[in-house]
Amino acid sequence: MSLRRFLGSLSAAALMTIVPPALADGEVNLYTSRHYDSDQVLFAAFTEATGITVNVIEDKAGKLIERIKTEGVNSPADVFLTVDASNLMNAASDGLFQATSSDSLDSRIPANLRHPDGLWFAFTKRARVIMVREDAGVTGLERYEDLADPRFDDMICIRSSGNIYNQSLVGSLIAANGEEATAAWVQGLVANMAREPESNDTGQIRAVAAGECSIGVANTYYLARLTRSDDPADRAVAAAIDVILPNQDDRGTHVNISGAGVLSHAPNAANAVAFLEFLASDEAQLAFADGNNEWPAVEGVAHGSVLDDLYGEFAQDDISVATFGANRSSALNIMEANGWK
Ligand code: FE
Repeated sequence: MSLRRFLGSLSAAALMTIVPPALADGEVNLYTSRHYDSDQVLFAAFTEATGITVNVIEDKAGKLIERIKTEGVNSPADVFLTVDASNLMNAASDGLFQATSSDSLDSRIPANLRHPDGLWFAFTKRARVIMVREDAGVTGLERYEDLADPRFDDMICIRSSGNIYNQSLVGSLIAANGEEATAAWVQGLVANMAREPESNDTGQIRAVAAGECSIGVANTYYLARLTRSDDPADRAVAAAIDVILPNQDDRGTHVNISGAGVLSHAPNAANAVAFLEFLASDEAQLAFADGNNEWPAVEGVAHGSVLDDLYGEFAQDDISVATFGANRSSALNIMEANGWK
């Protein structure tokens, strides 16, 4: 079933059970750095179910954080929705969120995927994995730690240290191995790079498929997107890739999130909570995640079969995403100090 048809089939009565009728009017002002058409369809479904209008402002996460800070107490923003736990922790450490107390969110979103004080909640999960060209003959690469092994000299494509997905990954390595070991790891990885960091995650996958490097690092949904592309050239790129899910025999593969929280000066805070609870409903979880080929944060919700085909079931690092999010600035310092451009 297409996403649009699926959303059209959503039962307003079912949605109303999670949104008290007393709140069923007014508006909610959403600042989001997600930029997927599927999200817009989902927001329309919320309005359909509740009568609450969703006013959307889209920009990059850093720009939205600056904007919310500048607007201060006069900010019209109710909800900040973004990708990556490090972005959410940046906003939290700037005091932008208020604590949300919601039995429904607390019971549905696993504890390691939400802020311990209820400042934000994850709604989707993505993993950052290793992708190799299937005919490159790469063997013995099983852990993130192995990326620093001299056996993989001149083989790795990965984007810059400025990329927040990499900062979060390094934050998780700091949590697992400590700062000193992580600094040595960064040195080894940099020595193994096939080229200076450039481009985005899709660019790393394309470079691996094209033979510019044998090993890449990218988020799971980018490969899923290429697999589902209408363009046969994209599907050929995806078909050339083998996935390595790192650290299956120890802490599990690094998992990051997209998520949202209610802002400190939200003029429509009750509507904002209703909106977050809607995003955690089974129906919204499926649509939200499937629209961008992510896993639902709520356990037990079905998801797109392309993820099963590409990745199957795998061990996921269950560290609190708040922990590596809080390591972001030390991660960046270590990356820059050890030559990761
Ligand atoms: Fe992304």
